[in-house]
Amino acid sequence: MKVDYAERLKQLPPYLFEEIDKAKQKAINEGRPIIDLGVGDPDTPTPDIIIKKLQEAVQDPSTHQYALNRGLSALREEMAVWYKKRFGIDLDPATEVLPLLGSKEGIAHVPLAFINPGDEVLIPDPGYPPYTSGTIFAGGKAHFMPLLKENNFLPDLDAIDKDTAKRCKLMHLNYPNNPTGAVCDKAFYEKAVKFARENNIMICSDAAYTEMSFDGYRPMSFLEIDRAKEVGIEFHSLSKTFNMTGWRVGMAVGNAEMLNGLGKVKANIDSGIFTAVQIAAIEALKHADQVKETMNKIYTERRNVLAEGLKEAGWDVKAPLATFYLWAPVFGNYDSFSLAKDMLEKADIIVTPGNGFGKSGEGYIRMAMTVGPKQLKEAVARIKKVFFK
Ligand SMILES: *Cc1c(COP(=O)(O)O)cnc(C)c1O
Repeated sequence: MKVDYAERLKQLPPYLFEEIDKAKQKAINEGRPIIDLGVGDPDTPTPDIIIKKLQEAVQDPSTHQYALNRGLSALREEMAVWYKKRFGIDLDPATEVLPLLGSKEGIAHVPLAFINPGDEVLIPDPGYPPYTSGTIFAGGKAHFMPLLKENNFLPDLDAIDKDTAKRCKLMHLNYPNNPTGAVCDKAFYEKAVKFARENNIMICSDAAYTEMSFDGYRPMSFLEIDRAKEVGIEFHSLSKTFNMTGWRVGMAVGNAEMLNGLGKVKANIDSGIFTAVQIAAIEALKHADQVKETMNKIYTERRNVLAEGLKEAGWDVKAPLATFYLWAPVFGNYDSFSLAKDMLEKADIIVTPGNGFGKSGEGYIRMAMTVGPKQLKEAVARIKKVFFK
């Protein structure tokens, strides 16, 4: 039998990390003292209170059957309570909250509800890969919005001409941003809502990192903008906030019609989140303030060690106000790829080349602060010795 992949798989952007992945595996096999700043996955465990709740819930046989597709009403209610408390936004738990198997799932599926072949989707470049793959799977076309340093890594909405805007049906936004670590202000969201209303474009705001911020900075929700709910939804996730990446629980909130569309797609693909995980997620949201405080102390220290250490070594990096990513410009004759390669080969440090997130990521590498301060100090020392002596 000849296996022939569908066009939609052939159309996916090339996977740029193959060579780096091989070099990484080789380094690990050789027993080299690798420091892994590659993957954006929190390294500290899920808080005990959440684990205890899961253990309790899993003992109850009523959690073992198929879950409700739209999630437990108690979970939707708790999600609405958290949004009200955190952002001051009123949501109807029955129609304006949709639990997800992690936000990646919702982000990847949302185009299936709204995009017809030939429709275009506005996507930040560099950006989280599912914005593009979800668009391609729905038969849509990606229209990339470059995130450039001179625009503080915000898309330039004025640069999108009327004809392009007409062909676009949906726009992904992501602040605080992965991979750039950039944040956006209220004025940007206001502009985005106005742009969406004028051009009849649905906004999907990815807010996965609003709870990971420093120096008293408080990221806002896109839904805080007047009439934002008329044009869009926001994706949120328990993954980063509560160290729950493996648990697969997130949500989409906002525009009821859009959520209804996404819900219809999901009803035909998945069968909801394991009920015990939903019960544990309710417990997590109830303890959000406390968990966030603990986590942000940890990340603040790491950010300071890494950003200040690299600056002192002579690397012109900027400490992020939010997220656990340091988006560092390459130096000398390096490009994203060759620097990432030398970091691994000469310093045993794994980083992600910026162009892996899109063309406009060229000229940067991303470091995820997913190791402790001791290892980060060691990473700084190695970088100084190898590249800035
Ligand atoms: C980690 C991350 C998410 C969260 O993904 P989950 O599927 O909820 O684990 C969403 N968006 C971005 C940009 C991320 O980096």
